[in-house]
Order: sequence, then C-alpha cells, then structure tokens
Amino acid sequence: MVREVGIRFPIKVYFVAGSNVHRALEYIHNQAMKGGLPKEEEVKSIVEKCWQDVPTSPDKNVMIKNAAAKYLKNYIKTFSIDPKSIYAVEKEFWVFFDEGLLTGRIDLIKRNKNGDFEIVDFKTGMVPGFNYEEQLRTYALGASIGLNIEATKAAVYLLKPTRHKKSGLILNITVVKDQLKKTQKSIAATMNKIENGYFSPTPSAAKCKKCELEEYHLCPYAIRKKTK
Ligand code: SF4
Repeated sequence: MVREVGIRFPIKVYFVAGSNVHRALEYIHNQAMKGGLPKEEEVKSIVEKCWQDVPTSPDKNVMIKNAAAKYLKNYIKTFSIDPKSIYAVEKEFWVFFDEGLLTGRIDLIKRNKNGDFEIVDFKTGMVPGFNYEEQLRTYALGASIGLNIEATKAAVYLLKPTRHKKSGLILNITVVKDQLKKTQKSIAATMNKIENGYFSPTPSAAKCKKCELEEYHLCPYAIRKKTK
C-alpha cells in the first residue's frame, strides 16, 4: 500500500516509544550474550542512549522514557534467561513467496542445551483481538525458511503490565510443522488477495478506535467513524 498508494505510514507516539524500548532491549540482550547482563542501575543510561524523542510534549516524552526504564528494570530484575542460551537478537528474516515478500524481525532466538531453538517476541502492549499465536507461527515460518532455524517453541513476553495481564511470559506455544504449512498457505492466500486488490477489513471497536490509517480514509469503517 505504501508503494502503490504512496502513503507515508503515520508516526505515532506508541510506535516510536515501542521502537525505543526494543532498541534498549536489543542492547540489553547483546550485553547478556557477551556474558554481562546490565545491572538494574544501568538501565536508565541504556534507555537514554537508545532513546529517540517521541512526537509529543517534552514532559510526556520524559514520562514515557521513565516508564520504559521502569519496565526494563523489572525485566532485568526478573531475568530468567540463561545468557548462554541467547543465539540471536533482533534477527531479520525475508521469505520470498510467489505472491510477495514476507519479512520480519525476531526479537530474541534462544538455543537450549539440546540444540532446540525458541523464539521470543517482546510486547509493550496488547492489541485486543490480535492473534498472537498466529504471529508466533509466522515468525517460526520466517525463521525456518528465511534463516534455516527450526524453532520448536515460541513465546510472547509482555514488558508492560496491562489491566488484565501482569508482565512476564504470557503465551508459550509448541511449533508444529504441519501448522506452519497451514500458516504458509494462509499467508500466500492473503498475499494473493492483496495482489488482486481484495483485502477485507476486520473491524473491531477497540482496534478501529486507534486505527493508524484513519486519516487516509482508506477503510470504510474508519470513514464511518469519522463522519459520526
Ligand atoms: S478502521 Fe479499518 S483499517 Fe482501521 S483498524 Fe478498523 S478495520 Fe482495520
């Protein structure tokens, strides 16, 4: 859509804040991989080093930065990963389908003593109705085809607690090869629909309220909301 319609994806506060947290997390994991997990008191300067100001008021920017440092401190405090098991950090994959390209970035890949790989995806928030299991399977597919890494497990780690969930591991799945084949087929089918100009929206009150693309008036649900 970015290429075809020439739109620029809107820069939102939570995107920039989330990218900042992921950069700091990447730094933390890289340090851990080298055998030196940073101490809690180092987190503030790590966040400072990795921070790009968010598009909001200076006061709110500082507030968000402090909150990010708090969640990352808590992550380090409860760190339960064997640093020796960290295999890769922020690993990008590219998978070429006949119908298009699937690309993504995996926050963390672990390898246990038996040689089994596990994918961990970190979240700074939860999107209602989002299929996190499907996202993990998509990453496992990307790792398998794009990186030649056969993950047997995949997990989601929530850094920032929500009203309903505490921070920590919130989802763990076993990766089954047959399911990956289904995921691959489903991605190819979606790409095919997009290529043919058919992409059906999946509206939900919670998602549409925060729709990033609302200003472009591309989706009837967003337009309907605007004209209310
Ligand atoms: S308004 Fe349309 S594009 Fe935006 S979240 Fe809702 S269904 Fe998706």
